[in-house]
Amino acid sequence: MKITLIDTGSPRNELNEPLAIELLCGNLNFQHQENIDVALFYDEIRKVKGSEFLKEQPSLIGISTKNGSFDRLQEIIESIRKIENNARPIIIVGGVIATFASKEILEIFPEVICVIGEGEDALVGVVKIILKHGHQNQENVKNILAKQDIPNLFFMLGNTFFETNRKTCDLNQLLKPNRYFLGEIIKSNGIVRAESSRGCPWNMCSFCTIKYKYNNSYWRPLPISYVIEDLIDISKHSPRMVYYTDEEFIGPNPERFYEICHQIIDKKASGLIRQNINFFISTSVKSVLTILKDTNMSTILSNMKKAGFTDIFLGVESGSPSQLKRYTKNHTVEESTKAIRLLSDFNVDYGFIMFDPDTTVNELRENITFLTENSLQTHDARMTKRLRIVPKTKLWWRFFEDQKGYVKFDINELELVTNFSSSTVASIHYYFKKFEDNTLSIANMLQSKSRGEIEVDEKRTNLRKKLGKLREENLLFLDACVREAEKGSANVNDKLEDIYNTFVQQYQIEMAQQ
Ligand code: SF4
Repeated sequence: MKITLIDTGSPRNELNEPLAIELLCGNLNFQHQENIDVALFYDEIRKVKGSEFLKEQPSLIGISTKNGSFDRLQEIIESIRKIENNARPIIIVGGVIATFASKEILEIFPEVICVIGEGEDALVGVVKIILKHGHQNQENVKNILAKQDIPNLFFMLGNTFFETNRKTCDLNQLLKPNRYFLGEIIKSNGIVRAESSRGCPWNMCSFCTIKYKYNNSYWRPLPISYVIEDLIDISKHSPRMVYYTDEEFIGPNPERFYEICHQIIDKKASGLIRQNINFFISTSVKSVLTILKDTNMSTILSNMKKAGFTDIFLGVESGSPSQLKRYTKNHTVEESTKAIRLLSDFNVDYGFIMFDPDTTVNELRENITFLTENSLQTHDARMTKRLRIVPKTKLWWRFFEDQKGYVKFDINELELVTNFSSSTVASIHYYFKKFEDNTLSIANMLQSKSRGEIEVDEKRTNLRKKLGKLREENLLFLDACVREAEKGSANVNDKLEDIYNTFVQQYQIEMAQQ
């Protein structure tokens, strides 16, 4: 049986190793290796062109989606639709768009089977059924999927939506990915990816998608032996940086983190893991304070560095107490400040959401003050983001249920677009976005160039400095707008327009001088 797995890539112009399809392939090959032949495609490296990929006549095509890839998904499905009905492969769509907009996909493509959340068990189950019953009679296949309750699927059964039971993947049974694209990713200075856990011990943030994605489960670690063996395999390809996809690498178990550090240091000493590999991990303020509250703080910090945990994404999210409360974060502004200081020697990227539907002018001021007091105004992270309200999150339910402030659902960006409750904040955001849009494509380009495999650290530092300069200009503009709003004048829109024109003129002069 021939299977084609496709990663649509993302329009963000970033070369990310397509770990999801590599993992699916690794797990499929083990379960059914005698009977299947899996071909992997990734738009950024091995793109499916036209209908060429259909020549192999696969029985099953799995498509992994990313934010912004809905148009690409449509294109691929349209090319499959050109095949005659009884010869058409089964189409399974997974990834974020299938998880959070499955109904919308089925309304356009009723033949598709969506995977909600984790795909490993679902795909193994579907393949088993196709191996036994063939793929030609798709209604029959769907009936069996429903009867056997193959987990995490959503599809049309006749004219009705049908959802099978959700199942959380047992990570102790997870097999290593088939790293088909790794060599090419490194050669092309892309982003090498790995995982060591799934989920989050907190799971409560109002905007966060992972609770639904992982079927309400909390933080689940992969065995340390898996993490280390995977790294040893990756290390043979000589990358400089490995990005962990974990939502929360450290989790509630500091001992595990210390042990991973120790084992990596040992393996680096024995030459099994290359000395100069560093790691990017995501974590929370609470976890940083937990691992570093010990009396051995300086040893832990030095071990993190020795192991290579040099790059850290920290979910600070806001410098305003009321906004943090609305986001249902589990840390305070003071704790964020402490975590930022503790990590001052690391390359830290920050999660920060300046605008949400209920942001007030006062909260904008609190955020600007927080960023300035923590010397983050020239940081390369984008601190001025607007909150994306994604389906199935706590915030989404609020807007979906009362429909107040609801504008539209953007399936490509997986975002519910809403109004601001404050008309002044709406005006500030309007002008801010207009100003930021002038430099957004340059900023995105600098950001994608500064990630991934870069030979010289100095080059990365320079790219980040340039990006930091753009971020600072944006923040200065926002600060000027907020200052104007704080005056409470009646014609705030005219004043914001004046500020916009002054800043744009100044920006154009600066650009001309460069
Ligand atoms: S701490 Fe991070 S991963 Fe956990 S619920 Fe909040 S946003 Fe999601």
